[in-house]
Amino acid sequence: MNQPSIRTDYKIDDRWRLQTGQLNVSPRFLFGPGPSNAHPRVLQALGMVQVGHLDPQFLEIMTEVQTLLRYAWQTDNRFTIPVSGTGSAAMEAGLANLIEPGDKVLIAANGYFGLRLIDMAQRYRAEVVSIQRPWGEVFSKAEIAGALEQHRPKILGIVHAETSTGACQPLEGIGELCRDHDCLLLVDTVTSLGGVPLFIDQWQIDVAYSGSQKCLSCPPGIAPLTMSERALEKLNARKDKVANWYLDMSLVGSYWGSERTYHHTAPINMNYALREALRLVAEEGLEARWKRHRRNAEMLWEGLGRLGLECHVPHEHRLSSLTTVKIPEGVDGKAVQKRLLEEFDIEIAGGLGELAGKVWRIGLMGYNSHPAKVSMLLKALETVL
Ligand SMILES: *Cc1c(COP(=O)(O)O)cnc(C)c1O
Repeated sequence: MNQPSIRTDYKIDDRWRLQTGQLNVSPRFLFGPGPSNAHPRVLQALGMVQVGHLDPQFLEIMTEVQTLLRYAWQTDNRFTIPVSGTGSAAMEAGLANLIEPGDKVLIAANGYFGLRLIDMAQRYRAEVVSIQRPWGEVFSKAEIAGALEQHRPKILGIVHAETSTGACQPLEGIGELCRDHDCLLLVDTVTSLGGVPLFIDQWQIDVAYSGSQKCLSCPPGIAPLTMSERALEKLNARKDKVANWYLDMSLVGSYWGSERTYHHTAPINMNYALREALRLVAEEGLEARWKRHRRNAEMLWEGLGRLGLECHVPHEHRLSSLTTVKIPEGVDGKAVQKRLLEEFDIEIAGGLGELAGKVWRIGLMGYNSHPAKVSMLLKALETVL
């Protein structure tokens, strides 16, 4: 049998075979809402030789990642794993595994990611009710208590660090309220893990998920997820299968548990990278890391004040990992972002949803939370303005 002839009319020329065709991306300072710059040690780990995903060396790495994650999250949860995917995959995993069709789910939404939780929960056929707050504000404990009392949901979903607004939701006491109402507490910790104080067990959080590319300073592509015994009980008592094969944690859990049953091929190198990112967290220590993020954020806020710029969120509820800055009247926000990128290789972002056109979003996450970087950013901003 004749094999088909090779087509040559693709736009492939010598460029693709020569040095000039080699990928050459010029570096940027990623001071937006994520991804943040990966730590050099993380990038080095990423490039390590691959082994098979059931190789004893890799199995050991998996265990190490889990142990390091438990420290970073301050949890004893046996089910603590990295999901293969970005933060949104872990978000979807949290909802898909806990929601059974018809379950009442309460979402406290005060930003873009709260709205995403509503959208996802509806797709898994939850009966979603929500409480809302203007973007940039946080919920009081009393408001949440009232909503739990009124709606009696099976799950409460809330965002700890709203990357779209720069507000940090206080979580103390909410877990207790949820237990009193026989409700599971699911928390988005994508922009808080490794950046701001977070205590999964002490705050009685049942499900939390995060991402690798924010305060952990690892490239995007792997996403931590943890579930309490209460959450696992709900998962194990399901009548129907989880409506998402890839993110079915009863299957994925056997791969990350002692059975090591194949489910899907773990992204080997991303696990190397996450391990190194988490090792950096452990090396620095959580307390020191949280303080560093706070110190550098304060430095940024003071500097912005000197430039006559105002933060969108009151000081009390500001996130140290992400700051929203009001775009002054008469200033073209997008033009400023463009000049920062073109002249200074600095990326910051504009607002989302309600805050589109109104704020810039500046992230100081993980490796990027550093005084030298803050002064560089302020200097560039001063020049451009
Ligand atoms: C970035 C982010 C996500 C989504 O993570 P991806 O990695 O972009 O999928 C979810 N929640 C919050 C609060 C985020 O900041």
